[in-house]
Amino acid sequence: MTSGSKNLIFAADLGGTHLRAAMVDERGQIHFRSKQNTPQGSDPNAIVAAVVNAVHEYKKEFGAAADGLKAVSVVVPGTVNVGEGTVVKAPNLPCLDGFPLTAALTSELGVPAFLENDANAAAVGEMWQGAARGCRTIICVTLGTGVGGGIILNGELWRGVDGAAAEIGHMCVDPFGGVACTCGSRGCLEVFASATAIVRMTREASPRYPDSVLHASKTLTAESIFAAGLEGDELALEIFRRMGVYLGIGLANLINILNPEMIVIGGGVVNGWDLFAKHTMQQVEERAFPLLAARVKIERAKCGDDAGLLGAARLAIANRS
Ligand SMILES: [Zn+2]
Repeated sequence: MTSGSKNLIFAADLGGTHLRAAMVDERGQIHFRSKQNTPQGSDPNAIVAAVVNAVHEYKKEFGAAADGLKAVSVVVPGTVNVGEGTVVKAPNLPCLDGFPLTAALTSELGVPAFLENDANAAAVGEMWQGAARGCRTIICVTLGTGVGGGIILNGELWRGVDGAAAEIGHMCVDPFGGVACTCGSRGCLEVFASATAIVRMTREASPRYPDSVLHASKTLTAESIFAAGLEGDELALEIFRRMGVYLGIGLANLINILNPEMIVIGGGVVNGWDLFAKHTMQQVEERAFPLLAARVKIERAKCGDDAGLLGAARLAIANRS
């Protein structure tokens, strides 16, 4: 434990599968981590209990040093009402829909609690401690199971009127492709640029590539497809080319609308950067206004899995000061 840290925030990232937590100080240093399976089922109090247990685990380990704990800050994959501290809709954690999560955590832990969308928090984390340090106007795109987005304008997270802004993954990039999205629309960026999409597109295209090593793969994943691409597999290269083109179309639209300083790309799929980034950059060059395209830096995220936790902590610190 670093001495003198008084402004400690317990941050929790509630994923559909894992609940990851960390104790973060006001300088962005992480002093404690925990990871457990997210409780499944219909009882939101099981999720509250899991976060509370993680805090107790931390207190047990740090003893008196844990007294500096000032707040709990939780991020969820879904729409949240930040002001009320309620989850509006979290498709992967449906038991939380409508649940007053911050009130439940405060009543259990006796400290203020904060709530944010995970992709918004990731953008804040990357600007605080990651690739976008020193920037004021950024877009953060998280390419994971789905595609998340966070937009920070002039240093302020842009949440929109209802807290549902920056759904970058649900920008339409192909009205004629007809690929259905979980949001109810069709042709969204998410159905072309997520890990799920990379696997689906590989399956769909595989009959056209009889020599691909991926035919032998029993469990296709975005990682295994990327690995094949690095070995020169033509099917994998074609899929990452397509993914990169769609992403570039989306980014060019965002660049023309928002004129950002930086676009940070994170999430597991960013591991495929060497295969898709050049196609993304080419689309940006072709489609965005030259002045804006020349200005924007498009970079890989630097905080990895910690972006959401760091952003959650930063937002809690900002709220308390
Ligand atoms: Zn969609």
